[in-house]
Amino acid sequence: MTESTKILLSEKDIPQAWYNIQADLPRPLPPVLHPVTLQPMGPDDLAPLFPMALIMQEVSRERYIEIPAPIRDIYRLWRPTPLIRARRLEKALDTPAHIYYKYEGVSPVGSHKPNTAVAQAFYNKEEGVQGLTTETGAGQWGSALAMACNFFNMECHVYMVKVSYYQKPYRRILMETFGADVTPSPSEKTNSGRAVLAENPDSPGSLGIAISEAVEAAATSGGKYKYSLGSVLNHVLMHQTVIGQEAMQQLELVGEYPDILVGCIGGGSNFGGFILPFARAKIVEGKPTRIIAVEPAACPSLTKGVYAYDYGDTVGIGPVAKMYTLGHTFVPAGIHAGGLRYHGMAPIVDELYDQGFIEAVAVHQRPVFQAAVDFARAEGIIPAPESAHAVKVVIDEALKAKQEGRQKVIAFNLSGHGHFDLQAYDEFLHGRLEDYEYPVERVREAMQHLPQVTLTA
Ligand SMILES: *Cc1c(COP(=O)(O)O)cnc(C)c1O
Repeated sequence: MTESTKILLSEKDIPQAWYNIQADLPRPLPPVLHPVTLQPMGPDDLAPLFPMALIMQEVSRERYIEIPAPIRDIYRLWRPTPLIRARRLEKALDTPAHIYYKYEGVSPVGSHKPNTAVAQAFYNKEEGVQGLTTETGAGQWGSALAMACNFFNMECHVYMVKVSYYQKPYRRILMETFGADVTPSPSEKTNSGRAVLAENPDSPGSLGIAISEAVEAAATSGGKYKYSLGSVLNHVLMHQTVIGQEAMQQLELVGEYPDILVGCIGGGSNFGGFILPFARAKIVEGKPTRIIAVEPAACPSLTKGVYAYDYGDTVGIGPVAKMYTLGHTFVPAGIHAGGLRYHGMAPIVDELYDQGFIEAVAVHQRPVFQAAVDFARAEGIIPAPESAHAVKVVIDEALKAKQEGRQKVIAFNLSGHGHFDLQAYDEFLHGRLEDYEYPVERVREAMQHLPQVTLTA
């Protein structure tokens, strides 16, 4: 059966349940803390921000959580997504490796993000919430949530990082087409936004600042609105496990098991969703799969960050979590992988990294774009700049396999297409793109602003 190129499943193969790695982690995740008391938060503390169903999923240790039928119905619009054997890339590289990619760019908004957006909108709607607030960088997450809210007749209020709002109008238009309202952040609408503007009226904004605004807008709405986050949280990674579960079925169909799995990491959701079912096999059955997370050298949370309690947002009003972090005061360089510029990382990914179940690599954006162009010319798909980080490392590993003369099976998650990112490709193709390495001294400096946590329990 290894002759297939496009490995397709039918709608009845869409997973019936999400996989919750918390059931199989060797030690429980550290508790999430209240931003003021710095003590563990209970469900009631989180209730102003999230619906109870998602709060319970966040801490659940149940291995499988059933996917409600209305969510699976919407998943049918694009799921199961194809697993594709990159035969033309293999040939171009002249590698004995078998390269497979799971292509999440076939979703309506072009990335994996609707897998959780639809689930989050559903649970909020069930609990009578009128609308969701959220942040978005380049607009991938905002457009996914805008679509999901529209499907469930809910309002969607998006705080979009200001520099992207003005420089990347197309995703804003996409969000508005779905009926969302989009505010450039920092804005005058919230205390958080006004505080940032008072200090720096020309602030270009950041994901951390936009999170503060969206959290505040929900928390002060008297229950009318709740807040939605597109990555990092346990329930978000769990919703994304439909990706890895499908990929596992698809590889089984062609009689292969991966030696190497690769994904890019911003907050960790597409990577987590893809690798977690395989990580289970590694933890529980001792499968020797290498699992590689790829991050930008300009935002190296795992490779240069510190595993410590930190605020999830810049202003320090959101929950505090133990993460590999560059510090919540992190201000990113203007690299083009907008979705990979978050200072922290999903606690689940952090635990797997800390315990040695996964590896991490940091790469520069020019070689990343070169890999993306090579991939596009071989396979015909223009990867999102974020996904291209995975492509770069896959090509490196395939060339290594060639040197060693070994027929490795390499599978990666192509988390989205880059059709809204052609400006970045233009800059790369015309030599206007620069590499930037985040200085380790800046990390050390930022560590002075971490919350001082002493757990009493
Ligand atoms: C948002 C985004 C990412 C980064 O977010 P994760 O939560 O780390 O997955 C990666 N790829 C694409 C296409 C995105 O839209």
